[in-house]
Amino acid sequence: MSPVVVADDVTKRYGDTVALDGVDLAIDDGEVFALIGPNGAGKTTLTRCLTGTRTPDEGAVELFGAPPGEVQADRLGLLPQDFNPPDRLTPRELVDYYAGLYDDPRDVDGLLETVGVNPEVETWYGDLSGGEQRRTCVAAALANDPSLLFVDEPTTGIDPAGRRALWRVFEDLAAAGTTVFLTTHYMAEAQRLADRVGLLADGRIVASGTPDELVAAYGGDPALDVDTDATPDDLADAGYTVEATDDGLRVQNIAPEDIGGVVDAFESRDIAFDSLSWSEPDLEDVYLALTDDPDVVDADSEEVAA
Ligand code: ADP
Repeated sequence: MSPVVVADDVTKRYGDTVALDGVDLAIDDGEVFALIGPNGAGKTTLTRCLTGTRTPDEGAVELFGAPPGEVQADRLGLLPQDFNPPDRLTPRELVDYYAGLYDDPRDVDGLLETVGVNPEVETWYGDLSGGEQRRTCVAAALANDPSLLFVDEPTTGIDPAGRRALWRVFEDLAAAGTTVFLTTHYMAEAQRLADRVGLLADGRIVASGTPDELVAAYGGDPALDVDTDATPDDLADAGYTVEATDDGLRVQNIAPEDIGGVVDAFESRDIAFDSLSWSEPDLEDVYLALTDDPDVVDADSEEVAA
């Protein structure tokens, strides 16, 4: 099976800025690929090169084995980050407008139902919640029933419930066989939706693989965080790798069955502690290990604009 999306050694410069520096990528039919990376890493530029709205300075891009400009419009869906449809349209009018651009569009009411927006609603787009607006935009991007969908940060600025509703939309699309290329700042989103994740930093793909592969390779070990006033020296003879944290100590490389042993070590040394929390590494740890971006976004705790 030949890949649906290919980037071959793609380089793109803006003046002296090297936005993409030799990016190689291949995405298979039906795959959900998530591109993650800090601001300025080149995600938008790569999305634009792949969709044909930017031309690489070097290297080549192919969609369905052809240059992006030669791909039939109805095979491709695109939801850019800054998609900003007219405010004074109802969801049905809006999606109907986009459906009207194609010869053989999907049924508008069915599309709105697919994304969980009531087609009968008379509210203008501008008065919908952020989540409803984004779901309506997804419906518009699906008007031509694309087999390849590009979505750039689809859930940014949406509250956690709205984000989860959109995740279900993308999961349904993936289950129906749509190939999805997604950029996101939310590691939980990439971990949940993506078959494969690529981490872009300074214009280069520095790691790619399934979320599990990336976590195994770069995420580090499971650890036990202990809320205590003790210092690593207090446990120096216990045989653990211990480091100080803001709230106390982190005991590294602890499997669930080792937790009792750690508790014993604390108690036998008369070290007081308030609470324990065990955690496995996830994609966020991979991101932090491979980038110097301190501002990784937690999908549930981000402040959302009203
Ligand atoms: P991301 O989407 O990961 O935040 P971008 O692709 O927007 O990254 O940007 C990558 C780099 O290219 C950044 O340094 C950005 O400032 C620069 N850049 C992007 N677009 C332009 C442009 N039109 N003109 C000049 N520099 C740009």
